[in-house]
Amino acid sequence: MNLEMMSLNSITIKRASFTELVHLAESHGIRGIAPWRDLFDDFPIEKASSLVQASGLRVSSLCRGGMFTAPDQVGRDAAIADNRRAIEQAAALGAETLVLVCGPVIERDVLGSQQMVVDGIAAILDYAEAHDVRLSIEPLHPMMASSRSTITLLSQTRRILEELRHPLLGVCLDAYHVWWDPMFTEEIVLLGPLIQDFHVSDWVTPIQGELSSRGLMGDGCIDLRTMREHVYAQGYNGLTEVEILSDDWWAVDPAEFVPIIAQRFVEYV
Ligand code: ZN
Repeated sequence: MNLEMMSLNSITIKRASFTELVHLAESHGIRGIAPWRDLFDDFPIEKASSLVQASGLRVSSLCRGGMFTAPDQVGRDAAIADNRRAIEQAAALGAETLVLVCGPVIERDVLGSQQMVVDGIAAILDYAEAHDVRLSIEPLHPMMASSRSTITLLSQTRRILEELRHPLLGVCLDAYHVWWDPMFTEEIVLLGPLIQDFHVSDWVTPIQGELSSRGLMGDGCIDLRTMREHVYAQGYNGLTEVEILSDDWWAVDPAEFVPIIAQRFVEYV
């Protein structure tokens, strides 16, 4: 796929600052960026916003809101407050979506945890609407159910979207999380216009670390080209984000890594 359709997720080159992320995307003809919020811990969002505007880059998403599951109301309220801050940041950046990593199963209660997620999203929809920010539920691979997300299936995500039904609420498809699902093709047809984000990397084994073992496109077992064609065939018109969490690749200088990513994107996505 052409680099005009690529967005560079900041975690892929996590050693880079926000300024470097913008510069690397611009200098390689990459169309967009997708920052993680920790970049703004020591870099003002207003400054980031002016940099983005000056560059003409699209901000395909902001990562992340969510983490709605907590054992008590204090924890759940804190999550809502954090999601409101994330919505404000997404609005300030002009991000096309805010990705929601919804929170792990807690207290051995899968359905109860899922309900906390539904309630949490319902509680922030008005705020998202007031800021005109789209929210994307990202189902994660089931190996992360106990650590990151009780939302693991496309069918489950679709049911939640149907239940909450809101024009600003949709799904984030991350190839790494959903490639294995034999129902993938059927589900994305059903999701159709609800697809708001598309992330790519590759699945390589053995898994070295649950959160940092992703492969570069072309190194693993995902048919990314076919997947991408299916996703865009549903009318998706956003960018394709490259999001590689990898201890191996984090060790490489971003200035060396980005050209490799760009070449693999064109070849395999
Ligand atoms: Zn993702």
